Amino acid sequence: MNTQPAHTIILSPIEALDTSLLDRIIGALITVFGFPVEIMPLIDDLAFAFDRQRRQYHSTLILEILDRKAPSDALKILGVTRQDLFIPILTHVYGEAQLGGRASIISLHRLKEGFGSEGREKEYHTRVVKEAVHELGHTFNLRHCKDPGCIMHYCHSVADVDRKSNHLCRYCSTLLKDEKERLMSG
Ligand SMILES: [Zn+2]
Ligand SMILES: [Zn+2]
Repeated sequence: MNTQPAHTIILSPIEALDTSLLDRIIGALITVFGFPVEIMPLIDDLAFAFDRQRRQYHSTLILEILDRKAPSDALKILGVTRQDLFIPILTHVYGEAQLGGRASIISLHRLKEGFGSEGREKEYHTRVVKEAVHELGHTFNLRHCKDPGCIMHYCHSVADVDRKSNHLCRYCSTLLKDEKERLMSG
């Protein structure tokens, strides 16, 4: 039985994740994008993307595999990993996405920065949710936004992530609405 409704967003944890965190991500994705979200692990081993020199994982390669493994009728895919991700021109990334494509991924690795091991779970989860919406936003063709409060604003640090809001500015909201209409009619 594989009866997903069309236009489902697939949330694909690479490692096991807290249910409370998953619930918050799902809630935010439904609120912002308005499509059903289904949890579906697609990859459980990132060894293929590991760079032995950098000791990090090349996110672009992971996006390709997520896209290949997801059901063909899935609208978008968001992978979530605890591993540290990079693209060759940067020391690390909080996530990466195929602009206007299907696959995106976020890394939890650096989002705990400053929070230590105990407490502050709510603030940590808030960062994760913002980055999840940001990366998935790119798959809906949203580019980086100049508005520092917009969730599509590019963040160099977790302080930048904390500073931005958890929603799209009016300009990006309009772009998303147009893109959704285009997807639903196509
Ligand atoms: Zn971005
Ligand atoms: Zn914006």
